[in-house]
Amino acid sequence: MNLVMLGPPGCGKGTQAQRLEKLRGMVQLSTGDLLRAAVAAGTDIGKRAKQAMEEGQLVDDATVIEIIAERIDEIKNGAGFILDGFPRTLSQARALDEMLAAKELELDCVIELTVVDDVLVGRITGRFACAACGAGYHDEFKRPVKEGVCDVCGGREFTRRPDDNVETVKARLRNYHELTAQLLPYYRERGKLRSVDGMAEIDEVARQIDSVLEAA
Ligand code: AMP
Repeated sequence: MNLVMLGPPGCGKGTQAQRLEKLRGMVQLSTGDLLRAAVAAGTDIGKRAKQAMEEGQLVDDATVIEIIAERIDEIKNGAGFILDGFPRTLSQARALDEMLAAKELELDCVIELTVVDDVLVGRITGRFACAACGAGYHDEFKRPVKEGVCDVCGGREFTRRPDDNVETVKARLRNYHELTAQLLPYYRERGKLRSVDGMAEIDEVARQIDSVLEAA
């Protein structure tokens, strides 16, 4: 099964995609993670993306399409993928359709996580992740079971994203409403869109996603 997770920053796309990857053996492709790795490694793509990311703006379509095309090519037949943070513009959605058609792959379902803007800023500014394995946590909603120790790998170092600050989050939300929200009618018209209440508890959101996938 091949999925897109859609929704504003902080809606829980990454958390739910990580869970599906673990439980169903699907491949999570997060353009945000791929771009952050490119910035950290100082590659050409990273150099092109750095400033836009720091300002909470979208990286240009060509760069993002290039980075995702490489990864889609690596997915072995049969392993489903979960696109997390891609596409974010209509032109990216059309490029994705072309990439999948060329590989004779289908997009089965687009899951939109709906969350009102007011709660997103708090969700994002409280986020942190294990520096070793990337498992995601939150100051208020999802602390490690043992304080200071990653539940998944036992790591003891945690990081926070530099763009998870109030000012940048506001720019990211604006971009979501102006550009990415155009994808909702695009996928609705194609019969792919399913909406899930992203305001519910993490486990309840997961349960709703499971029922959507069972029906797909
Ligand atoms: P994320 O981890 O999905 O919140 O993405 C972090 C940042 O990476 C975004 O604020 C953008 O600057 C950039 N980015 C990630 N995915 C995309 C995309 N599909 N198109 C353009 N920029 C992206």
